[in-house]
Amino acid sequence: MSWHASVLTIYPAMFPGPLGHALAGRALERGDWRLDVSDIRSFALDRHRSVDDTPAGGGPGMVMRPDVLAAAIDAAAAAGPDRPRLLMSPRGRPLTQERVRELAAGEGAVLLCGRFEGVDERLIEARGLEEVSIGDYVLSGGEIAAMTVLDAAVRLLPGVMGAADSHVEESFEDGLLEYPQYTRPQVWEGREIPAVLVSGDHGRVAEWRRAERERATRERRPDLWAGRRLSSPSRLDKCDGLK
Ligand code: SAM
Repeated sequence: MSWHASVLTIYPAMFPGPLGHALAGRALERGDWRLDVSDIRSFALDRHRSVDDTPAGGGPGMVMRPDVLAAAIDAAAAAGPDRPRLLMSPRGRPLTQERVRELAAGEGAVLLCGRFEGVDERLIEARGLEEVSIGDYVLSGGEIAAMTVLDAAVRLLPGVMGAADSHVEESFEDGLLEYPQYTRPQVWEGREIPAVLVSGDHGRVAEWRRAERERATRERRPDLWAGRRLSSPSRLDKCDGLK
């Protein structure tokens, strides 16, 4: 059975959107993953198809109702009950490559896209939702966040990336950012490709890339660098084995 994503949204026409193109789109066509999109409004309880109501305690905006959302989640979960249920939320845990890898290794995911001021807190507790943030900024809705999660996970599914696109040396895979990349022409606007990369000496190329990865991580992401140095020896051994 292929990796199964169920997206719950009030804007179903937004999907597959970018996920219908390029790597993810070809994988979808091949059946490497499956995408179901449900319109939350079809689970509304009134003839106006309302999914939101005013916030308890007052304040601006509207809040998505727990009863309507629960019906949508339960219907999606029935088609794959062991999948994690993710709520896109700026209050959630920031998405990491490690979590993406775990998601890709599972059976799929149910992704709930918030709108308005967000969702009733009781729903999060009652349905055990995992709140996922894609960064410290506020989007107008969870759809683009859900697409981000799906794009990151789908490219890691078996067979989706060819060997040529191998991801073992990519940013974050072993706690380091990637090395800088170059291609032809060898000289462009007076700038040359670093000589070591055209030397044909694979050992020196590997050493240069490793040093560049460490330098970029130290300079650009001291948080990642510090986390890596604090990692257990077994993790460091594993990382070093990827060289
Ligand atoms: N009032 C909320 C707050 O201040 O935290 C923001 C709600 S936002 C306008 C509407 C929806 O967009 C959220 O419920 C969530 O689903 C989605 N969203 C916004 N920013 C996000 C982020 N950084 N990561 C994931 N989802 C996000």
